[in-house]
Amino acid sequence: MTALPDITLPIDLIPSDGRFGSGPSKVLTSSLSGLADTGTTLMGTSHRRPAVRAVVASIQDGLREMYSLPDDYEVVLGNGGATAFWDAAAFGLIERRSQHVAIGEFSSKFAKVIAGAPHLEAPDVIEADYGQSAALRADASVDAYALIHNETSTGVRLPVERPNGANGLVLVDATSAAGAVAVSNPDYDVYYFSPQKAFGADGGLWLAVCSPAAVERIESLAASDRWIPPFLSLKIALDNSRKNQTNNTPAIGTLYLVAAQIQMMMAHGGLDWAIARSERSSATLYSWAESSEIATPFVADPAARSATTVTIDLHDSIDADTVEAVLRANGIVDTFGYRKLGRNQLRISCFPNVEPEDVEKLTQAIEFVAQNL
Ligand SMILES: *Cc1c(COP(=O)(O)O)cnc(C)c1O
Repeated sequence: MTALPDITLPIDLIPSDGRFGSGPSKVLTSSLSGLADTGTTLMGTSHRRPAVRAVVASIQDGLREMYSLPDDYEVVLGNGGATAFWDAAAFGLIERRSQHVAIGEFSSKFAKVIAGAPHLEAPDVIEADYGQSAALRADASVDAYALIHNETSTGVRLPVERPNGANGLVLVDATSAAGAVAVSNPDYDVYYFSPQKAFGADGGLWLAVCSPAAVERIESLAASDRWIPPFLSLKIALDNSRKNQTNNTPAIGTLYLVAAQIQMMMAHGGLDWAIARSERSSATLYSWAESSEIATPFVADPAARSATTVTIDLHDSIDADTVEAVLRANGIVDTFGYRKLGRNQLRISCFPNVEPEDVEKLTQAIEFVAQNL
């Protein structure tokens, strides 16, 4: 291990907030102080009583408004994050056979869960090289299609759309897209996510916007003779969500942070405002990388480039791990690429909480570090 180069960034290249991680992502300090200000009224009180249930209701109503959800769509939530939701979907949303796009670490993980489920048929997995996109295709033997809105590991964004002529449910992992990328309600049945990415909250929770068809599937599989572990039962989650509760004890601090983030976004203009922030920050990074001598966007197709998790390859002569470490020593954290991609790469989150001006400074900071290595 070579010693870390001693490089101090000029003060005007230091962002106002140095958190650029793709998850957990930047949490607003105003939300953290808001949580502290709840004092004795929220944390440490029952999640089955009005104080906490009002926070859950505010999340559900807030998402309803943010996404202009039709009345018959439901916002369901439970513990365990998107990873737990994959297991829950294996029991409560897929009837016999699913189809998956697998274009990176997260979308592949869901496909692997299903491939291992003894009560389901082998899934149809449509793969693409990392950095590329892939599309679903209608198949009469498939009753659930698994799509990812933004593959966080590679920085590829996919359009959310039903394959032409398909009958099954469309299940969208929106963990790093929800709250920052546009989606239209008729195009999915379940739009699920963890809140520690674009929603700038803390982890441990999953949220799922469900269409009437998804609710119907949840109900019918729960009524079938399939064994469903109660913790992973979407029917139990649905019943609790209708009462603004979770099946078991949630992290109340996380709930508070999600509610605060949604309120903040709505106060600024809702999803359109959030989308514009992410678009602006990511455009700054891509146009810098396209013109820089030391950087290139990893995702070749501009239409597939993520607006929320931007992956940038560095020139071979500039070691990305060293750049990351020097930035970290200067208070700029979590710009590392996804380990398993194994590339000389930085990954920078452009979630709505990140200041577009800070992203601008970050590009200059990276250039400065590269020049001084
Ligand atoms: C982070 C992430 C997950 C996993 O979320 P957890 O809360 O850690 O379970 C799943 N899918 C995508 C797209 C993600 O970005």
